[in-house]
Amino acid sequence: MSKSNTVCPRCGEAFVCAMQSGEAACWCAAYPAAFEVPKAGEGGACYCPRCLAELIEARRAQMAGMHCRPLRPR
Ligand SMILES: [Zn+2]
Repeated sequence: MSKSNTVCPRCGEAFVCAMQSGEAACWCAAYPAAFEVPKAGEGGACYCPRCLAELIEARRAQMAGMHCRPLRPR
């Protein structure tokens, strides 16, 4: 029943997004909210599990860097 219904826009790998198939929650919802997850019905493309994990890591590193950077007054 796990037929891939979407393609990762990053690496082109076919995978299953539960939201695309009408489920209320997808496996991607279990990931931390560090990365935006497309909402059902918006037609946004999901990333595959591997890319999502990589993007979350990248985002996390980016955010950590931002926290370390002091705010510069105008
Ligand atoms: Zn991917």
